[in-house]
Amino acid sequence: MTHQLAPLPFAYDALEPFLDAKTMEIHHSKHHQAYTDKFNTALENHPDLQEMSAEDLLKKLKNLDVDEKTRTAIRNHGGGYINHNIYWKTIDPARPKDEALLSEIAETFGSLESFKEEFSNAAATHFGSGWAWLVRDENGKLKIYSLPNQDSPYTLGHEPILNLDVWEHAYYLKYQNRRPDFIKEWWNTVKFI
Ligand code: MN
Repeated sequence: MTHQLAPLPFAYDALEPFLDAKTMEIHHSKHHQAYTDKFNTALENHPDLQEMSAEDLLKKLKNLDVDEKTRTAIRNHGGGYINHNIYWKTIDPARPKDEALLSEIAETFGSLESFKEEFSNAAATHFGSGWAWLVRDENGKLKIYSLPNQDSPYTLGHEPILNLDVWEHAYYLKYQNRRPDFIKEWWNTVKFI
């Protein structure tokens, strides 16, 4: 089994003006495609690992019977492959409201607004490339944090719920160095909470 880049579930210009079409096109057709291709290359000589889902590979990353170079490639490119799949779902304009999640967010963080503030802060203050995450931890509790590069909450034993890409390729064409502006506008694209 090789991993395929799924078509974006909406048009490249569907999130204008908050996320511009050019950024979306490059992000999906170049960056996400490259993670997908390199993920498959990393698994090329490992037919046993090709049978596993990408999520399972990341969950079991530390215990996979592979050399360190392959482990790092799975971490980076398998992570990139999965993280972007989650990201497109996070900003899918057609995704229906998740009322149960909304109540849980309000319960855990006080309100949707205070959740957004805490999440935005994690995204804005993350140093360098990486992602801000809302996850469910090993005790089933909602948690916000950021992780570097393409590291995955699955590897920490957490279930990802939504994410925000703060690699410069996610916003630089339109927002340049103004990451906080990007984050503020980005919330307009999240319709399911
Ligand atoms: Mn990205």
